[in-house]
Amino acid sequence: MTAPAQPSFLLTPGPLTTSARTRAAMQRDWGSREDDFIALTASLCEKLLEVVRNPGTHVCVPLQGSGTFAVEAAIGTLVPRDGKLLVLVNGAYGKRIVKICQMLGRAYVELVCAEDTPVDPQAVAAALAADPAITHVAAIHCETTTGLWNPLEAVAEVVQQAGRKLIVDAMSSFGALPLHLDEIACEAVIAASGKCLEGVPGMGFVLIDERDLLACAGNSHSLALDLADQYVNLRKTGQWRFTPPTHVLAALHEALVQFEEEGGQPARYARYAENCRTLIAAMGAHGLKRVLPDALQAPIIITFLAPEDPAYDFKTLYDKAKDKGYVLYPGKLTQVETFRVGCIGDLRADDLARASEVLLDTLREMGVKMLVESEA
Ligand SMILES: *Cc1c(COP(=O)(O)O)cnc(C)c1O
Repeated sequence: MTAPAQPSFLLTPGPLTTSARTRAAMQRDWGSREDDFIALTASLCEKLLEVVRNPGTHVCVPLQGSGTFAVEAAIGTLVPRDGKLLVLVNGAYGKRIVKICQMLGRAYVELVCAEDTPVDPQAVAAALAADPAITHVAAIHCETTTGLWNPLEAVAEVVQQAGRKLIVDAMSSFGALPLHLDEIACEAVIAASGKCLEGVPGMGFVLIDERDLLACAGNSHSLALDLADQYVNLRKTGQWRFTPPTHVLAALHEALVQFEEEGGQPARYARYAENCRTLIAAMGAHGLKRVLPDALQAPIIITFLAPEDPAYDFKTLYDKAKDKGYVLYPGKLTQVETFRVGCIGDLRADDLARASEVLLDTLREMGVKMLVESEA
């Protein structure tokens, strides 16, 4: 069977549209114990630490798997078995950390707010003051459920003042939204290959304070997900403990070279912000409403309210847009019907302008009234 033609654009938060150069980097095989692969791993780790302006405190621990593997590994490694995690929840990824705590048997407490509301640092401070058993706090930088940008700096400050450790799921923000370890106190930052760094999916990584990590030996319930063991072995031999995703790593390395050429995080942020503005303006001009106000919207993924029209259904919109080369993402909100459009990946403003046209045309073809009427 021949593979179907690649869809032109993935308007999703990962896997996402990658550059031809990144895909080309997967054209050779690597032996995982070869010197050149060891050097590639070391170079990758160095580049990842540069993205967060590591002040020399943190080390990079790569891990096989999707982003959730890295989150689970970080919680299991960093939160001691007699520790307790405060999880800041305003969407599906916060809830996923709660589930991880339940599975691992780590004590936790949730601080929940609505999906369209940012985490409140004062409420975090109060929760920490009320419960001295809490050792760690887990926060989601950009909650991909909606695209909401949580106030990480302010949260980090109250966590530090309370003498606790902060673990950040920066999966959908890493490389795009600013997160600088020389400015904010953060024990660990978790992210993965296939999001804003524009690599292909298949590996995660956790940037961890080295002193804390070395003190965490024996915490993990899992062999494969033990980041302390992974790090000790990596430091000793330069090698991954178990078969590394060689092609994924090579692609991520090449994606990071392009990230640096583009101008690093500020440039990536600027490109995504332009993508986001283009999409919002085009869709907004035809009456499509969003879940989040501008002040909370990270330029990562945009959640639109589905038109209230019997002619609308997501599956039809999805299928028709896909036929035209654009892959959408379903909504994930529990309360209202939505659809999401990602503006990350190897995409530029003119791509988002065309994507908006395709979506609007498709809604029109479906007979969604607000579009038919805005046409007339
Ligand atoms: C994508 C994502 C993850 C990880 O999801 P996987 O499907 O396991 O890659 C975790 N947290 C956030 C905020 C994400 O956007």
